[in-house]
Amino acid sequence: MKELSKIYSAVAPSATMAVDAKYKQMKADGLPVVGFGAGEPDFDTPDYIKAAGIAAIENGQTKYTPAAGTNAVRQAVAYRIKEDTGVDFDWTNIVVSSGAKACLYTAFTVLLNPGDEVIIPAPYWVSFTEQIKMAGGVPVVLETGEEQRFKITAEQLAAAVTEKTKAIVLNNPSNPTGMIYGREELAAIADVCVKNDLYIVADEIYCKLVYDGFEFTSVASLGEEVKKRCILINGASKSYAMTGWRCGYAACGDKKVARTMANVLSHSIGGIGTMNQAAMTAALRGPQDSVEAMRKVFEERRNYMVSRMNAMDGVSCLMPNGAFYVMMNISRLIGRTLGGRVINSADDFAMAFLESGLVAVVSCDSFGISNFIRWTYASSMESIKEGMDRLEKFLQS
Ligand code: PMP
Ligand code: GLU
Repeated sequence: MKELSKIYSAVAPSATMAVDAKYKQMKADGLPVVGFGAGEPDFDTPDYIKAAGIAAIENGQTKYTPAAGTNAVRQAVAYRIKEDTGVDFDWTNIVVSSGAKACLYTAFTVLLNPGDEVIIPAPYWVSFTEQIKMAGGVPVVLETGEEQRFKITAEQLAAAVTEKTKAIVLNNPSNPTGMIYGREELAAIADVCVKNDLYIVADEIYCKLVYDGFEFTSVASLGEEVKKRCILINGASKSYAMTGWRCGYAACGDKKVARTMANVLSHSIGGIGTMNQAAMTAALRGPQDSVEAMRKVFEERRNYMVSRMNAMDGVSCLMPNGAFYVMMNISRLIGRTLGGRVINSADDFAMAFLESGLVAVVSCDSFGISNFIRWTYASSMESIKEGMDRLEKFLQS
């Protein structure tokens, strides 16, 4: 048999999806495992959104739509962005696709020529690097640590720019760190992007999940020069508990980017489920109180998880300000034996914890940082309590 594509054969499986699949299999096998792997809200999709999806099916909205989405959903996206961030996007500059994941991938596909570099602050969400490679680009990772609260500085960015740099990925609030860039930090970073004519792939999918009264700033709100370089990525998965509906969107500052994305989608994914677009329209236009109610619950869970973790010997974490993840520092555990396994890395810890502690967490080895474990608090308080109890026990094993 002839060899498969070199580019696609080199793609690593998604670590988050792999943990989730293993956790779900163990659960199906009857094991009493608790899961903190995939960042997926445990809440059900709010009823008014489900009703809109059902009504669409019953009203015969079951046919093809334009590849970039119906006019109604694209206008709803423009409305929601304006409401939430104050930024005006012409609705024709918006494309909707199968989750933020497909929007990101399509964006990288249209931006990159072979060998183009894309700067990614680490720790990063695992799919950014793989998607860039799949699109023929070269990810250039900028490392950060706890001492800088996992945030890059404008100086760090400026020093990493080369002639080949085409874009930067700015995931704010960040998965996996939960950190948020404030307005001034963003402005300094955006300034470097404008000076070097870089596109900004701004993944703001967690923009509604911010805590401690933090005011979220969209990078696209920092002026026309910044906005025109932005491809703003967002979707319904996190804010509206709609992961399985596969509803994401990209708002492009530049019309040519939007048009090219729509052309690519017309040959690849096509429009997403017509009824899903109707549900997303309802989510974005409807009352937003359920979003706020979920946010409040996430904040309580975060507070509980962080205080339990920091009270344990051997592990620690920073207080994240957004999204629904906590980065647990396990560097003090390296070299110790836990659950019968010598812990030489975060991968070792995650495996030992799953097999003998029966808790699924994600190793950040695939997120561009060593000695960290990602927990999500997008699961019930009861599970979180159980997870923390098991962690305490595991650390003494
Ligand atoms: N971006 C980030 C930072 C994420 O954490 C996720 C999680 N799935 C996505 C994009 C993709 O979300 P979805 O495809 O479900 O819209
Ligand atoms: N983005 C979520 C996570 O990081 C869901 C899984 C995925 O799409 O990777 O866990």
